[in-house]
Amino acid sequence: MVKPPTGGLEGGRGKPARLKTAKERTPSQQAWLERQINDPFAAKARALGYRSRAAFKITEIDDRFHLFRKGVRVVDLGLAPGGWTQVAIQRGVTDLVGVDLLPVDPLPPAQILQMDFTDPACGPELMARLGGPADVVLSDMAPNTVGHRETDHLRIIGLIEAAADFAIEVLRPGGTFVAKAFQGGGADGLIAHLKQHFKEVRNIKPKASRQDSSELFLVATGFKGR
Ligand code: SAM
Repeated sequence: MVKPPTGGLEGGRGKPARLKTAKERTPSQQAWLERQINDPFAAKARALGYRSRAAFKITEIDDRFHLFRKGVRVVDLGLAPGGWTQVAIQRGVTDLVGVDLLPVDPLPPAQILQMDFTDPACGPELMARLGGPADVVLSDMAPNTVGHRETDHLRIIGLIEAAADFAIEVLRPGGTFVAKAFQGGGADGLIAHLKQHFKEVRNIKPKASRQDSSELFLVATGFKGR
């Protein structure tokens, strides 16, 4: 059960915590864990019952663009563990389908598929379940990196472009596409592509998005139709 969000995030949490028992962890795992423990958004997500700190990114986007309400149909691509879907449901959405490679604990009334979005069967399956054109397509997908710079770059671009093509295929006129992209990861080309199909395309860096991360969110509104 998600408790309603309250006020802003507390600042000034004192000295950052350091973990003492790090024997079993790699340095990067240790750094990730310490960052989580000292991250006010992660702490607030836990306190409010959100499954991920990503919930605050979509909250900020929805506060600005008013995407979620009863009666709108939403597709959430890469939804695990479910923070964005929780926010959509909390804000009145009942017609929602989502997909992830990973298993996701149920989030009724959302219908959740465990599948690879790039599987050609995935799009039709999502739309059959949604029961009509989408008002909003969300994508927070990010492929696992393999450590080879050019390969990772191409995989990121490929996945975001697939999400954009899907949105163009399934949105109703006037609909909205929200996608995580990465600076230097083909975002400029994607913005140009989206501008052909949407009245406005904005580039947002929510407060909950880590400043040291190159992620940004594209919000394309006013789908022009096919
Ligand atoms: N928005 C989510 C939330 O609020 O909890 C967080 C999403 S997480 C940053 C990105 C997700 O994208 C991961 O769970 C990953 O498994 C998923 N993903 C990456 N590639 C995918 C693919 N090809 N098909 C489906 N999901 C994918």
